[in-house]
Amino acid sequence: MTWKIGNAAREKLAKLGVNRPFDLLLHLPLRYEDETHLYPIADAPLGQTVQVEGRVVHCQAQYRPRKALVCRIEDGGGEIFLRFLHFYPSQLKTLAEGKTVRALGELRHGYHGLEMVHPRYRVVGEEAPLAEALTPIYPTTAGLSQDSLRKHIRQALASENLADTLPEKLREQHRLADFAASLAYLHQPPPDAAQMALVERTHPAWQRLAFDELLAQQLSMRHHYRQRRSFDAPPLAPSGALSQAFLRSLPFALTGAQHKVLAEIRRDLGQPHPMQRLLQGDVGSGKTVVAALAALQAIENGYQAALMAPTEILAEQHFLKLAGWLEGLGVKTAWLASRLSAKEKRAALEKAASGEAQLVVGTHALFQEQVEFHNLAVAVIDEQHRFGVHQRLALRQKGRAAVHQLMMSATPIPRTLSMSYYADLDVSVIDELPPGRTPVLTRLVSDARRDEVVTRVRAACLDGRQAYWVCPLIEESETLQLKTAVETYETLATTFPDLNIGLVHGRLPGAEKAEVMAAFKRGDLHLLVATTVIEVGVDVPNASLMVIEHAERMGLSQLHQLRGRVGRGAMASVCLLLYQQPLSELARERLKIIHDSSDGFEIARRDLQLRGPGEFLGARQSGVPMLRVADLERDADLLDLARDTAQSLLQDYPEHAARHLERWLGGRQDYLKT
Ligand code: ADP
Ligand code: MG
Repeated sequence: MTWKIGNAAREKLAKLGVNRPFDLLLHLPLRYEDETHLYPIADAPLGQTVQVEGRVVHCQAQYRPRKALVCRIEDGGGEIFLRFLHFYPSQLKTLAEGKTVRALGELRHGYHGLEMVHPRYRVVGEEAPLAEALTPIYPTTAGLSQDSLRKHIRQALASENLADTLPEKLREQHRLADFAASLAYLHQPPPDAAQMALVERTHPAWQRLAFDELLAQQLSMRHHYRQRRSFDAPPLAPSGALSQAFLRSLPFALTGAQHKVLAEIRRDLGQPHPMQRLLQGDVGSGKTVVAALAALQAIENGYQAALMAPTEILAEQHFLKLAGWLEGLGVKTAWLASRLSAKEKRAALEKAASGEAQLVVGTHALFQEQVEFHNLAVAVIDEQHRFGVHQRLALRQKGRAAVHQLMMSATPIPRTLSMSYYADLDVSVIDELPPGRTPVLTRLVSDARRDEVVTRVRAACLDGRQAYWVCPLIEESETLQLKTAVETYETLATTFPDLNIGLVHGRLPGAEKAEVMAAFKRGDLHLLVATTVIEVGVDVPNASLMVIEHAERMGLSQLHQLRGRVGRGAMASVCLLLYQQPLSELARERLKIIHDSSDGFEIARRDLQLRGPGEFLGARQSGVPMLRVADLERDADLLDLARDTAQSLLQDYPEHAARHLERWLGGRQDYLKT
């Protein structure tokens, strides 16, 4: 259909997210009013919204008890007052004595007797026909009336092609309602429709639309997945001598969960197509060992592996750890940091390009800019959630084969969201922590009791423990954040003349940052004052105390990540969350959640409830596909079905799949492209 709507109305519609005729059909009612039925006034139930009709017997503006237009109508069996607190003088004429009025509103006991306040009303003639369907009430915006919305939507319903995109067989098999009928039902429900089910969006008609939306999302993402899958990648034979030797050299045995995800990764790496796997595991669940084993599988097969991290601090930690693990086994590594001298950098780049370096570690940014490999086969991307799923890697690589990718994330994403958001990836989950961890004790402390915290930190440090002091996040200004960190550092240094204190923040030159981290790791520093740069990956097992200032400003996943920096050793660890009063409702809720739970998945689930999927994933940043109709909590079962159906449509009914995608994503497919 062509889009026959004037510019002014179009702008208004665009505010509602309606940009094409199909969007109009998806602009679904919030609720309905029943104008299909007239109640005799005497029988009309109190406290409900009802429609009545009667003759005006009296109408006048009155001033007591307050200014109002009061109009009395009766239908032979009873009478009620229509009361308007805001009115135009012209209404006195419209509602003149003798006119017949149809009014819809909530019936209640008022000052004069039975009344409706501000009913919707119109003057009607004899035997005026009743509505045949319930009247939809749509979400709208200033300047766009319900009537004109209804008109546009009625037109779209009549003129759009609403042919079902699901094959009849699948539709029947899964007992899904007919598409066109579902839309008609939602916009124009019959008088006897179950309004509850409509408003709560559990009605089969709603379910059909929610299903279709989820299906479109799955189709689009699976489509991209299959496209990438159609590339070639070197099949890597699993688990050779190096992997065995590495496993033997570790001071611990892998957990069951690590074994399970490793088997999944090894199977993928053996395929002649690129792996696209996301490894999820809570903070401290031991993803790095798994990454090392994935890298070794490439190296054993004569290929290179790369590991990249979002920050230089983290990349360096990884490098030190992996080099420590693997160089003893004869694996050649290279380290790429922005702070290397030009000469060192060139040397590292050459090692990558010649193939001399079997494992290259660096930051994500560096890899994207300049690295060429001899024969890269496996790329591991740590803390993948920091990049947004749609920023896939553009690894430059000579030769045509694509690279196996293992993305790791410590931000657990609830299952429904991950199925929806990561439908273009295979997902492995480490759902078990290594044994012997003592849970971190979390305490909420009002900033008014800061002195006690200071005393406690000092005592712990003098007792041989190490501590982090995390400075507040200041979103508006990085400079201000820096200033706060420096000031905190100076104040603490004055307060604790007998402690060795270090400072680390994002603006510190790379070499200094590395030096401070190394000193903390060696145990030369008691206390590390830090901005949230330490949020990811930092692993210093002897650190067992953490203070987080202005914890009320931080998001749940950030708090969880920060807290994950302690509790890595055998010692009982404590995390003190300092907060400033007064707390907003949301901040209070967040602090309660982080206090009550240490399970990343549980925290993520509650965070999702608190914020909704868009906020949760940082929609603006990552371009997460927003759902208009479906709700990942309410429609969780539909998601499974949508995923299976997407597979079978792509397999057996490609034309249906194409039509479905066109209907749902036509014009806005771009956000799903990777
Ligand atoms: P994350 O998943 O947060 O990246 P790490 O890989 O940094 O976690 O692991 C956290 C700590 O647990 C590290 O010190 C690591 O050596 C140790 N670790 C990993 N796997 C095991 C295991 N199976 N048993 C005991 N300790 C382990
Ligand atoms: Mg990690």
